[in-house]
Amino acid sequence: MNETHEIEAVVIGAGQAGLSSAYHLRRTGFAPDRDFVVLDHSPEPGGAWQFRWPSLTYGKVHGMHSLPGMELRDADPARPSAEVVRAYFDRYERAFDLRVRRPVDVRSVREGAGGRLLVETSDGAWSTRTLINATGTWDRPFWPRYPGQETFRGRQLHTARYAGPEEFTGKRVVVVGGGASGTQHLLEIAPYAAATTWVTRRPPVFREGPFDQEAGRASVALVEERVRQGLPPRSVVSVTGLPLNDAIRQGLADGVLDRQPMFDRITPDGVEWNDSPRPRRVSADVILWATGFRPALDHLTPLRLREAGGGIRMEGTRAVADPRIHLVGYGPSASTVGANRAGRAAVRDIGRLLAEEPAAA
Ligand SMILES: Cc1cc2nc3c(=O)[nH]c(=O)nc-3n(C[C@H](O)[C@H](O)[C@H](O)COP(=O)(O)OP(=O)(O)OC[C@H]3O[C@@H](n4cnc5c(N)ncnc54)[C@H](O)[C@@H]3O)c2cc1C
Repeated sequence: MNETHEIEAVVIGAGQAGLSSAYHLRRTGFAPDRDFVVLDHSPEPGGAWQFRWPSLTYGKVHGMHSLPGMELRDADPARPSAEVVRAYFDRYERAFDLRVRRPVDVRSVREGAGGRLLVETSDGAWSTRTLINATGTWDRPFWPRYPGQETFRGRQLHTARYAGPEEFTGKRVVVVGGGASGTQHLLEIAPYAAATTWVTRRPPVFREGPFDQEAGRASVALVEERVRQGLPPRSVVSVTGLPLNDAIRQGLADGVLDRQPMFDRITPDGVEWNDSPRPRRVSADVILWATGFRPALDHLTPLRLREAGGGIRMEGTRAVADPRIHLVGYGPSASTVGANRAGRAAVRDIGRLLAEEPAAA
């Protein structure tokens, strides 16, 4: 199919951020297919949640906010969050008739004709007046580079490919990363593994007490300030700290969460620190990189939105360099609650822009 469709708004991504945006478009009178489309390259509803490992049960996630207009109620905490969210998003898309097109991969967005943006996909092209980008981070796992990495004879994998602890039975596992994923992996793997080692760049900061609204607002403000300056957003845990729950307390007491500084190099059979008087070594069969994700924005490269600092300068959800473009679920809105609010704000802004500049006849 090579036809180019004309439309008012394209939403890329049908995770929390994209569905929240689609809901607000619908509420403000935009009709699906006629005025807007939602494109998503994953096979099923659920956004990135559909890919999360089965042992990440709904009870283990940190507080998932419902999408606007339809609560997620009575979810079984023992069920995998992937299943819970997939079923909930599926119900949601039907209830609000959002008509998500999937699997449709957006390959690039570039300047089109007549002040429009050209969205090129695996299923034809869209010529749109505005764009809501809600592509999350799951598709861009971040792997830091360390000397000797390519010489390692064991297995290396990233959180994005973690499928549960059983496959680490009897293995010596080094887990890299001080975020929520790293600590969850360690607590799950330790009972199966022959040995685990935890390394992080910075000493982890554990947060006592509840993460209340005040703390949430302060964290969001920190990330907001960075993206306003055009800097890449920081990881969530760097601003929120790790919640000190019972499982973490137990892990600290048992020594499973005995954090070591980052190693200096990787060797064919493990990792090594430059300790004096001689290097210290830990042998390993597996290195598990729980080192986070980066915004999946490669398809926007032709628009040259990136600043010298490496991020996209934002004012709220709007790209400062191009008011037709909103990034939802990016930086300060990269949480389920943030994505909800950002979807509403982006749609309000787009509505204003479209009203100010009626389409050329
Ligand atoms: C392990 C883990 C646990 C988390 N737990 C929590 C939690 O408990 N609470 C919380 O608030 N947040 C949590 N988060 C953060 C969470 O991911 C976000 O809050 C939220 O779910 C992200 O929604 P999103 O819509 O921005 O992205 P996603 O859910 O990633 O959705 C993006 C969608 O865009 C699609 N897409 C990407 N690129 C393209 C393209 N080029 N073309 C077409 N489609 C594309 C993808 O297929 C995907 O469906 C967690 C994150 C991780 C990694």
